[in-house]
Amino acid sequence: MSSDIVSRLKLQRIVNASGTMTSLGAARVAPGVAAMSVEILDHFVDIDQLQARASAAIAQATGAEAGCVTSSAASGLSVAVAAAMTGPDLERIERLPDTSSLKNEIIIQTGHLINYGAPIEQAIRLTGAKVKKLGQDAQSSVTGREAAALYIESHHVVEQGLPLSEFIRICKARQVPVIADMASEYDLKGPAALGADIAIYSAHKFLGGLTAGIMAGKKDLIRAAYLQNSGIGRHMKVGKEGIAGAIAALESWRRRDHQGVWARELQIVSKWLSSLARVKGLRVEREPDWTGNPIDRVKVTVDEAGLFAWELADRMAARDPSVRVRDDMIEHGYFFLDPCNLAPGEEHIAVEAIAAEIEAAQRKGDGCRESFAQHRGRKIARLLQWPEGY
Ligand SMILES: *Cc1c(COP(=O)(O)O)cnc(C)c1O
Repeated sequence: MSSDIVSRLKLQRIVNASGTMTSLGAARVAPGVAAMSVEILDHFVDIDQLQARASAAIAQATGAEAGCVTSSAASGLSVAVAAAMTGPDLERIERLPDTSSLKNEIIIQTGHLINYGAPIEQAIRLTGAKVKKLGQDAQSSVTGREAAALYIESHHVVEQGLPLSEFIRICKARQVPVIADMASEYDLKGPAALGADIAIYSAHKFLGGLTAGIMAGKKDLIRAAYLQNSGIGRHMKVGKEGIAGAIAALESWRRRDHQGVWARELQIVSKWLSSLARVKGLRVEREPDWTGNPIDRVKVTVDEAGLFAWELADRMAARDPSVRVRDDMIEHGYFFLDPCNLAPGEEHIAVEAIAAEIEAAQRKGDGCRESFAQHRGRKIARLLQWPEGY
């Protein structure tokens, strides 16, 4: 039974209305992924051969020349940056993060210096590379030491900046390879079609694989990325189960009933909009995904509900089951409900939690006590006590 492990390990039962979050264990695995990952655990494999099979599967799914699997998209970023600096030179690969005599600058637009749980700048610097920020003027200051340019497609991006196509065009003209971070993007074929040298996806997000990263791109650069397993890639290596899981996830994605899933999610969103419209103190509206993924969410603005948005989210998370909402903009007084990781029937639990906590706060008058700064401070203080209190 799916609930057994939750009680055995004394974990909180979670209703995930926040979408795909690494901190909540990403996604439920897609059909076929668990079986294939378990099956391979009982076999020895030649990892180079298994990764070559993954390369073929990734090439087919993305239209790129080749691919390989890493331990996560974050490690994929480091490995891709390393590859751009070393090429297939094993001596250089072992020498990282010493980048003396190598082209070691990585161009990135300032608005793309995001934090996906850790700062992306650090994924670059780990390899010994230097971050070269690109402001408004994309044409500016070419030093000849540029090893690659990094493009981030994400809702975390502050300023969209240039579209990927334009970014690639400018970099190509300077013979600088482009690495595209597409970790959460459903668009598997776009980057290769536009000429990106490497595109990086999370295997465990929308694809529903085990925790891993999928890299797709030009064969030479992918090979150089794969060879980092003899260097810094070793510290971020993926096991046979992660590789098999990624192959299975791509296969499952190909067969997925995308229209059917989309229709089911839209139904949940419509139900949420109509039920929450009846809750006093809230404003609700439909909000399409920022980067164009086929996901609509419900934006819940907590106006005069007798408690702040972050207090409401906290109290929902403290319930049993714990209801988690998408809270990355919550300091502005709103959060999102995301349908894409809900099990059938769970949509009501989210609405009930919202209504019950608002009703309780109004009855007890115990809301609007904790400012956002206090709320944030308390969260950090709790984390600093880990593992106590968890
Ligand atoms: C999630 C995410 C990452 C990190 O992905 P992992 O596979 O969890 O390491 C990197 N970049 C973006 C844009 C993301 O959304």
